[in-house]
Amino acid sequence: MINALSVDVEEYFHPSELPCSRGPEKWESLPSRVAAQTGRILDLLARHGTKATFFIVGWVAEHHPAMVRRIAEAGHEIGCHSYAHQLVFNLSREAFREDTLRAVRAIEDACGVRTAIYRAPNYSITRQSLWALEILVECGFTHDSSIYPISHDRSGIPGFGRHGQMLETAAGPIYEIPIATATLSRKRVTPVGGGGYLRLLPYRYVAAGIRRINDKESQPACIYFHPWELDPEQPRLAEGLVSRLRTYAGVSHMEAKVDRLVREFRFSGLLSVYAVERAAAAGAGQ
Ligand SMILES: [Zn+2]
Repeated sequence: MINALSVDVEEYFHPSELPCSRGPEKWESLPSRVAAQTGRILDLLARHGTKATFFIVGWVAEHHPAMVRRIAEAGHEIGCHSYAHQLVFNLSREAFREDTLRAVRAIEDACGVRTAIYRAPNYSITRQSLWALEILVECGFTHDSSIYPISHDRSGIPGFGRHGQMLETAAGPIYEIPIATATLSRKRVTPVGGGGYLRLLPYRYVAAGIRRINDKESQPACIYFHPWELDPEQPRLAEGLVSRLRTYAGVSHMEAKVDRLVREFRFSGLLSVYAVERAAAAGAGQ
């Protein structure tokens, strides 16, 4: 089983937990760390011969085109992680369309790839912002990976289908790739897929979750993390205990964890993993 690996390429000052995350006005004055952080991830993946999908923030693509070119030239899939990293459910439809198209252009200008796979900042396609999928189809996207089928204070759709699935919108179909979850019982779904959980939980918990999805459900697991999560030297901008924990706990062990994950499991980019899945499902259905 090949699992799906993704990296959300944003600066350490972009996570929506942070007070400075609400728009690009302040970002120019903060020291950038994303190119060096992403470079370390590219080296790590190259050592293991592993490919991933890199979802890139459009603002980052404008500021670091050489880094985006390096990602594409290394053979990784290029995805879109919005332009200004704002929560989708806080935007109007028109503002979302504008932000998305601006990101697509910035990414294409940087590396020549017209991206067709989207990931919303902080998994902010929720029940109240499902309209975003229709706009993504209109903007040329064929795939989305923005739905976390868990109950969380600011993201997630509890009860949503936990595996890759075709969704119909008024503008046409889009293939949704939710983040990996494990079922503890019929009603309890727990996150496995990455970011804070990968950092905060012991490695064996995440590994057991992936094995369970692969072996018991015969499905790939979709995992994600951020470049800043592997950087113990980053400036600490989060305020308040919960926010600091969510943002920084476990950063000094994260690179070793990702290294072990990539050694012990097979991974590739989302488009290639789910193209195989969809072909297998179509074959089984005939
Ligand atoms: Zn993000």
